[in-house]
Amino acid sequence: MKPVIALVGRPNVGKSTLYNRLTKTRDAIVADFPGLTRDRHYGSARLGKREFIVIDTGGFEPDAGSGIYKEMAKQTRQAVAEADVVLFVLDARAGLSAQDHDIANYLRKLAKPCLLVANKAEGMKAGAQWAEFYELGLGEVIPVSAAHGQGVRSMIEAALDRLQWPEEAPEPEPGDETVIRLAVAGRPNVGKSTLINAWLGEERLVAFDLPGTTRDAIAVPFERNGQKFELIDTAGLRRKGKVFEAIEKFSVVKTLQAIENAHVVLLLIDATQGVTDQDAHIAGFILDSGRAVVVAINKWDAIDAYQREQLQRSIESRLAFLKFAPMHTISAKKRQGIGPLWKSIAQAYASATKKMPTPVLTRLLQEAVAFQAPKRSGMYRPKMRYAHQGGMNPPVIVIHGNSLEGVSDAYRRFLEGRFRKAFDLVGTPLRIEFKTSS
Ligand code: GDP
Ligand code: GDP
Repeated sequence: MKPVIALVGRPNVGKSTLYNRLTKTRDAIVADFPGLTRDRHYGSARLGKREFIVIDTGGFEPDAGSGIYKEMAKQTRQAVAEADVVLFVLDARAGLSAQDHDIANYLRKLAKPCLLVANKAEGMKAGAQWAEFYELGLGEVIPVSAAHGQGVRSMIEAALDRLQWPEEAPEPEPGDETVIRLAVAGRPNVGKSTLINAWLGEERLVAFDLPGTTRDAIAVPFERNGQKFELIDTAGLRRKGKVFEAIEKFSVVKTLQAIENAHVVLLLIDATQGVTDQDAHIAGFILDSGRAVVVAINKWDAIDAYQREQLQRSIESRLAFLKFAPMHTISAKKRQGIGPLWKSIAQAYASATKKMPTPVLTRLLQEAVAFQAPKRSGMYRPKMRYAHQGGMNPPVIVIHGNSLEGVSDAYRRFLEGRFRKAFDLVGTPLRIEFKTSS
């Protein structure tokens, strides 16, 4: 489970600057896709091998009376509740304000690991203005400059050191006994519980005991047509006796964690509502995480032919970045179209974990280049020598050669298309990286 770090502080101290710096690389991946409005406040970030989730909160006044401030305070409290560590961001140049004291009082009452971050500290001497931050009685103060990137790494190291790291469960070797971890994700009311209960009610679905999952009452292992699956904890879903119910409020963090823990994500969209911003956010997270994905448009029974056509079009434009994912139209309530989802899920998993041998990749690369060579950029023409597989779920293909910095996005997409076709990859993103040796 990825740890969650929340950025808290009054407006203008530099929280979003810090957030953008922490999530920069991930944002760049998503920004390639037009039409995606992403929830700016939650993002994945990485420091070396350690990955974590960052929550950026709006400005925060603990006792805000009404309106937008009250709503922001509520959002912040929720973020703090979901966080494993809180980074309380302060302005090293401005010193302490009354508002900072209020926030400190609030944080002191919570038994949460907390770090004080003195931002905008570039060019300032140690022991300068931020020395007074120790008065807050919240412990260590770490000077950083979010704008210039100074001290950010030590800050994250200090934050992650506060965490209790759960023992890593060994990753099972892919093989016949593979258990596909599946998360069913979607906004509240799209029909997640209806679908899961419809599935679990099917006779073909056999529950079994999976060692190590008993502590987690939500994970449901089962077998279908000889393939083992584990339905993992999905945001807002809880088992009540034999059936699932959505009893929790929608939580972005839980959704993110469910996505991160899955091999394959089934994204549910409510046909009667069309593709909403929140759907697009969730889809963006799935893409960001690199997980395999299958999309199901639920409540297909409840819309007419005209609406169906409209919806198809809005999906094509708003979820264009998930073009690689199989799309199904279903009615969970009427149990229509829900069986074929399994085939797509298994196929997406197989694609995401496909082994791509170096000789085959290299031959495909050479064929692609012979068919259409990359354009010259600047003085040099990119030269591609060989390719090897750099990872699974998502599959990564690393291409080695010279002068590869200038390879265009269009050419990258061209290569992606060729590899996808050759390996029959569906339902998984495919990442292509270039490594220049010279
Ligand atoms: P937020 O309201 O807490 O999210 O603050 P923002 O990230 O929007 O930053 C508020 C202002 O502080 C902006 O004008 C930033 O450019 C500036 N700022 C952020 N980080 C730094 C920093 O490290 N040094 C300096 N000098 N300014 C910064
Ligand atoms: P969740 O919050 O995502 O778990 O959504 P639920 O499974 O609780 O479903 C929300 C509402 O949508 C309930 O009233 C369901 O009866 C209804 N619903 C679910 N699936 C369908 C469907 O395929 N067709 C129609 N017409 N209604 C559905």
